Formats: sequence, C-alpha cells, structure tokens
Amino acid sequence: MSTAFETSPARPTLERDVVVIGAGPAGLMAAYTLKKAGKSVAVIEARQRVGGRTWNGAVRDINGTEHFIEIGGQWISPDQTRLISLVDELGLKTFKRYRDGDSVYLSPDGTRHTYSGDLMPVSDTTNAEMEKLIGLLNTKVMEMDVERPWEMPDATALDSISFTAWLKQHSDDQEAIDNVSIFVASGMLTKPAHTFSALQAILMAASAGSFSNLVDEDFILDERVVGGMQSVSLKMAEYLGDDVFLGSPVRQLNWTTERDPATADQLNNVVADVRNGVANNGAPGEVIAYADEVIVKAANAVLAVPPNLYHRIQYVPPMPREQMVAHQHLSMGLVIKIHAIYETPFWRAKGLSGTGFGGGHMVQEVYDNTNYGPNAANGTEGEDPHGVLVSFISDVHAEAMWALPEEERKHRILSELAAYLGEEAMHPIAFYLSDMGAEEWTRGAYAASYDLGGLSRWGDLQNQPTGPIYYACSDIAAEGYQHVDGAVRQGELAANSILQYATVSA
Ligand SMILES: Cc1cc2nc3c(=O)[nH]c(=O)nc-3n(C[C@H](O)[C@H](O)[C@H](O)COP(=O)(O)OP(=O)(O)OC[C@H]3O[C@@H](n4cnc5c(N)ncnc54)[C@H](O)[C@@H]3O)c2cc1C
Repeated sequence: MSTAFETSPARPTLERDVVVIGAGPAGLMAAYTLKKAGKSVAVIEARQRVGGRTWNGAVRDINGTEHFIEIGGQWISPDQTRLISLVDELGLKTFKRYRDGDSVYLSPDGTRHTYSGDLMPVSDTTNAEMEKLIGLLNTKVMEMDVERPWEMPDATALDSISFTAWLKQHSDDQEAIDNVSIFVASGMLTKPAHTFSALQAILMAASAGSFSNLVDEDFILDERVVGGMQSVSLKMAEYLGDDVFLGSPVRQLNWTTERDPATADQLNNVVADVRNGVANNGAPGEVIAYADEVIVKAANAVLAVPPNLYHRIQYVPPMPREQMVAHQHLSMGLVIKIHAIYETPFWRAKGLSGTGFGGGHMVQEVYDNTNYGPNAANGTEGEDPHGVLVSFISDVHAEAMWALPEEERKHRILSELAAYLGEEAMHPIAFYLSDMGAEEWTRGAYAASYDLGGLSRWGDLQNQPTGPIYYACSDIAAEGYQHVDGAVRQGELAANSILQYATVSA
C-alpha cells in the first residue's frame, strides 16, 4: 500500500549518494563535507531559508530605520575549536563582545551592586558556598567522558536526582544555589533546575570544558561572527548551490531493511516490522525522502533536524522501538531572547559593561550586544553607534511573559533591564523578542535535553544510526552540546562516518 506522500502530485525525483534533511549548521556541514569528498548530495529544508536556529534578522526603530539583530544563536567561545576553524575556512571574521567597565549584580532582595572581576559581590559565606559547588561540579566534569556521559561511574545515580536536589544536597545557601544553577538551568538548558538531572547538568559543563568555563561570561560569550552567525550556514549553502532545496519539509522517509518475520502477528493483524532493531546500522541501503517540492533517492540519509521534530516525519517502515522511545525523551527548553536598541550604549558612559546577573530574578542575565560590521554611511568597518542590549527570560518566566498583553510584557521586561542598568533602559528606540518556541520547524530554544533519567538510559542510542539513516544535531552532540560548534561537529561526524563506511566496504 502506498501512502499519500508517495502518490501526491508530480515533483522532480533526484538520485544522490546522500540526502540531508535540514539545512541548519549540522545538515549543511554534513553536505559540505560530503560534497568536498566527491559525494553527490541534496539538502532538503522546510523553511524558506538556511541556518535553522541561527538567523540574521532586523527590527525597525521608531523612525523606520532597520537594525541588524541575531534572532537565534550568535556567540562563539574559545573551546569551540571546530566552529572557529570553519569560520576561518569560510572567510568570515569575528569580533569580541564589549566587556569594559563594571558588571551589575542584583541580589535576591533586588539590591543593586556593581562589581569588577569574576566574583559576584555576595557575602563571604555565599561566595565560599559558590566556590564549593563550582569545585564539586568541576570534579564531576573531570570524571566524565563527554562522548559517553552514561558510562560515568555514578551515572545512574546522578541521572536520578534533579540538579536542584543535587545542589541542595551540597549546600543550604539558596543564594549560592540560585547563582550556580542559572548557568545551566535558565542560562543553558532553559528548563527549571528541578526538571533535569545532575548528570545532564554535568554534561552541559563538560561539553564546554569545565563548569568554571560555563560561569565565566567572558569565556562563554566571547565572540560573534561579523555579519551574523547565520553567515556560516549561508556560506556553506553558497558552496552547495543548487543542491539545497528550500521551503520543502520532508514528510516521509522510506528506508529499505530486512523486516523480522518473527514480529508478524496474523491473529492481531500486525505485519512484520523492525521493532527489535536492524542489522548493519550505518550501512548504505536505499532511502527515499518525500518532501513537498522534491523526492530524493539516496544510499544514506542524514537526519539533521532537532530530535523533538523527528516525529514530524513518517518513517516507512517505522523506526525500531528503542530508537523512537529514546528520542521521545529529548524535549526543547524555552527562552525569550530580548533585543533592546538605544540611540547610544548609555551604560558605558556610566562605567558599566552592560553585563548583569541576578539569580532568582525574571531577567537573570543581560549583556552589551552592540553590532559591529560594515558601516553603510561611509563603507568602513566598525562598531555601530547604537547601543544594543541582549537579555534572556527562561522557562516558567518565559511562559508567564508570553501570557501577558504585548505592552505589559514590554514594560515588565524593560523595568527589569532598568533595575540593572538604569532608567534609560526603559526607552529603547527598537525592541524585539525572539520567539523560537512558536517556530514550526524548531518549537523551542535554545535546544533539546533529556528529562530526568533519560541521558543514562538512552543516551548511548542517540547517535547510533538506524539502518542507512544517520542523526546529526547540536542537541545530541558531545563537545559543543546545544551550540553551533556541536552542530558542526555532528554534521562532520555523520559525513565522515558515511565516507568511512564507503571506504571500508569498497
Ligand atoms: C535564541 C537562541 C539563541 C542561541 N544562542 C546560541 C549562541 O549564542 N551560541 C551557540 O553556539 N548556539 C546558540 N544557540 C543554539 C544554536 O543555534 C543551535 O545549537 C544550532 O543552530 C543547532 O543547529 P542544528 O543544525 O543542529 O539544528 P537547527 O539549527 O535547528 O537546524 C535544523 C534545520 O532542520 C529544518 N527542519 C526541521 N524539520 C524539517 C523537516 N521535516 N524537513 C526539512 N527540514 C526540516 C529546520 O527548519 C532547520 O533549518 C541558540 C539558539 C537559539 C534558539
């Protein structure tokens, strides 16, 4: 029996070595690597643009002038070496985040403190507790092989306790707990710290090299790409040319494999399937991707979409039991990225860097995000004279904000920015909120992570190919987990695995 997508109106049918589903950084890196190695590829993308969660956008100010914003991912940190070398290879440049001047700390009661250096101006006791927690987490990171977190000696125990509960086991200082947990919970996984495990938190830190790296904003938010992070995808898509198909969601993926006759159950009308898994995972076979505008037949597929969207595709035959169950336990976080543009970076004149932290507050972090690039007026390259603040509202706070009428939401958010940087923050000339949770082909931000217990139980399956289908996404990465660097590494890994298989079996 053929399905609706196999028989729907005529679309071109192409034959390629590999079909890549999703033109985010992971999918494009897979296709870019394969094409450079001489393989024929087709990249099929649901949206009318490449880049996925990296997105160069614009916002109009009160005078109608457009300002550049990065709606999605933007920062690069020094440990993200594969992304750094790719940026260089693609001929792109980077610039440093502005960081001169004092930072601001909002204490739990809302008192505002300015400080310089890495240490937040908390009491000596809280500081000692924070140091202790960070030290403990750094030790755990050292015990973890980031490629195989589920193999850590106490992986199951660490995966069965929430990050909040783990922190509370080691400290009873709530301010210390809030200040440490923001770097993983609201700051990275964008889920409340009671919804994910200590093991997941340690993986987040291990993927960035250490927990100390995660809490160091000068490290983790180091540089941006001139022209925006989406330029990385745009450049790879330029190389791929006509091999990229936009506006064409893949709805169905057929793949050939031996069905297990023992699974047939005539009594209950169940046909033979692959529920117990398949032999030769990763081997070339035949896949057919049915998308809205094109059909692609290939020997392998790279599924380069976020795991929460795997279910948007119908697999024929259905995926094996284990693979489907594993991926169901990866869910997206939720964060609103706030962009507020001002005539000038007014905070700098007050000796402030624009950086602010406040564990437990709705807006827990704010940074100077002033743009740098070609100056349209005189053709030179330099910093935009307009000041830009970027800030984030995560998880339950994000839900509460989306529930408010627009004007009230804006007022609440700007009031929080003003608490950090002064009353001037109330008067941006342009204001924009990134809403990736509403984007059909993302449905959350920044990325997907496991629910409690999921990483130790299913993590080893997340990157295992299913027959000829490979998985590649930042959300199942080791190094660079949940970041563009992880996406790029995953795309390259899938491509190299396909190439290696071809070489070994030739
Ligand atoms: C607001 C925000 C801020 C972020 N900040 C940073 C940051 O500062 N630094 C950083 O490194 N990372 C950041 N990230 C994370 C980073 O953007 C992601 O890790 C990265 O984009 C993931 O790349 P990917 O290719 O794995 O997935 P994606 O970028 O999600 O790409 C997947 C692609 O698949 C497409 N797709 C989905 N379903 C289908 C289908 N059925 N058929 C065809 N195509 C399909 C999607 O449209 C998309 O283009 C941020 C993310 C967000 C949302």
